[in-house]
Amino acid sequence: MTARVTLVRGDLTEQHADALVNAANSSLLGGGGVDGALHRRGGPEILADCRRLRAGPYGKGLPTGQAVATTAGKLAAAHVIHTVGPVWSATDDRSALLASCYRESLRTAAALGARTVAFPAISTGAYRWPMADAARIAVRAVRDALAADPGTVREVRFVLFDETAYRAFEDALAAEG
Ligand code: ADP
Repeated sequence: MTARVTLVRGDLTEQHADALVNAANSSLLGGGGVDGALHRRGGPEILADCRRLRAGPYGKGLPTGQAVATTAGKLAAAHVIHTVGPVWSATDDRSALLASCYRESLRTAAALGARTVAFPAISTGAYRWPMADAARIAVRAVRDALAADPGTVREVRFVLFDETAYRAFEDALAAEG
C-alpha cells in the first residue's frame, strides 16, 4: 500500500497523528514559532526529554538536517520528532539539508512504527526560507523517501499555518503529479 501525502491548513499542535514533527533549533531547549507552540501545548514532559537528550547522546545539540524523537506529552500524538532546519542563505545552497530534515524525520517515525506523520513547513519562519522553494523541496523529499521505503508510514500530512503556505504546498504537490 502506498502512503498518502495530504495538506491541511491549521495549527500543528492541534493535529491528531502518531508523530508531530517540530521545527526545532539545535539546542533542543525550545524556541519560538512551532517549537514554542508544541512545548506550550504539550507540557513540560517534552522539554524534560529534550534535556535528557542534551545530557546524553546530543551533548552538543542536534545537528542541522538530523531528527530525534521524544514523548509528545499532552499532545494528541505518541511522539514529537525534533528536526533542525537550515537557516536560509542566498549564497549557499542548503537544500540538501532541508530535504534531509524530512527524510530523517520519516525514518525516525517509521522506526517508531508511526503510521501518520504531520509536518510544519520547516525553515520557513525564523529561518526565512522562501515558501515556494521550501514547499518544492519538502514535497520532493517526502515523495522520494516514501517511494524508497515508506516503512510503517501511511499518511504524511503537511500542516500549513496560513493561506500562502497552503497554496505553495498545493502548487508543489500538483507540480510533482
Ligand atoms: P523555522 O525556525 O524552522 O523557520 P518556525 O517555527 O519559525 O521554524 O516556522 C516554520 C513555519 O511554521 C512557518 O511557516 C510558520 O508560519 C509556521 N508555524 C508557526 N506556528 C505554527 C503552528 N502552530 N502550526 C503550524 N505551523 C506553524
